[in-house]
Amino acid sequence: MLNPSRIKAITLDLDDTLWPIWPTIARAETALTNWLADRAPATVGLLAQPEVKRQIRADTEAQFAHLAHDLGVIRREAIRLALQRAGDDPALAEPAFEVFFDARHQVDLFADALPALEALSARYPLVALTNGNADIGRVGLARYFKGALSARDFGVGKPDPRIFHAAAALVGTAAEDTLHVGDDAHLDGVGGLGAGMQFVWVNRAGHDWAHASCQPHLTVADLQTLVDRLV
Ligand SMILES: [Mg+2]
Repeated sequence: MLNPSRIKAITLDLDDTLWPIWPTIARAETALTNWLADRAPATVGLLAQPEVKRQIRADTEAQFAHLAHDLGVIRREAIRLALQRAGDDPALAEPAFEVFFDARHQVDLFADALPALEALSARYPLVALTNGNADIGRVGLARYFKGALSARDFGVGKPDPRIFHAAAALVGTAAEDTLHVGDDAHLDGVGGLGAGMQFVWVNRAGHDWAHASCQPHLTVADLQTLVDRLV
């Protein structure tokens, strides 16, 4: 059971909690393809083959395993490897990544996201906590947050308890006085609960909770339901 009286701050996941990530990534990949079309057509042809694209991603992840928490580096270096293998200019990787990264921030918020951010931020300090590489400033949501922490900045990602503790520390709260809100049962749920936080599972798709060792304090289908419980 959620205990609202113990909540002094909220850490909030971003991708798939405030906006759906896959339409965003698909649009960003289209923007990248369009940008490369004139500049590196052989690369576009290579990446149009799903098996080749998967292999390039896998090879990049293997080569940059020590930076696996930084999805931006993996993305940029996968672009570079594709350029190399296609015989195009590898130096296009930087500007190409910027095109992708810019489009990646053009998100379509879930309908409940802005009203929930308004309501929750009026009552609690909010901290963005993400394993992805979305920047709340570039998304246009910085005014709702007192802080932000990403796996890229911190060096390890969720579900490691250290990143939860560090996120709470940004607003001066202990884990047990902090609520974590997110969509991923393992990264957000098992991670947040393991760090000693209360956890609200944003389960928009109606999945089953698959972790017998722990339970969310509350499961909601949308953020408005959470607001109704807290504000
Ligand atoms: Mg998420």
